[in-house]
Amino acid sequence: MKQTTKEIQIQKRMQLGNISADGFLGKDKRHYLDIIAEDENKILELDYTIDQIADRLEELTAEAFKSPEGPTNFGTLTLDYFSYRGKVTCPFADPGVYAKAKVTARNTENDVQLCWTPLNIHLIRKHHFFEGKGAEFRLDPEQLIKCIF
Ligand SMILES: [Zn+2]
Repeated sequence: MKQTTKEIQIQKRMQLGNISADGFLGKDKRHYLDIIAEDENKILELDYTIDQIADRLEELTAEAFKSPEGPTNFGTLTLDYFSYRGKVTCPFADPGVYAKAKVTARNTENDVQLCWTPLNIHLIRKHHFFEGKGAEFRLDPEQLIKCIF
């Protein structure tokens, strides 16, 4: 694949220990553009859109945030918000910082459980990037859809 200089820089930033201590690619050896293309196809196949997913994650994050003292129930989901010190930046080098936080969600109907960060939501909405397989905050689109809808 012929890559632009910018794409090469982004790929480097995503590798282990560059911005995030755990990297955005995990054990995934693919180029991030290939990861994006595969996940976009999967979402299309499941008949959802990127915006639907990002809107829902924002809604759930806001609900979880309302209950800092512990888990909260929202519909069929149990949500919990964890806040950490510090901020993170986007590996695509957009300006701006994101709160270091984590939301856990468990769907009480099918028991699918996962977690995401505020940066995940930005990566999904703007870059259609769900991270590489094995990355700490990889969100498998199929599991994510099962969990949050
Ligand atoms: Zn970005």
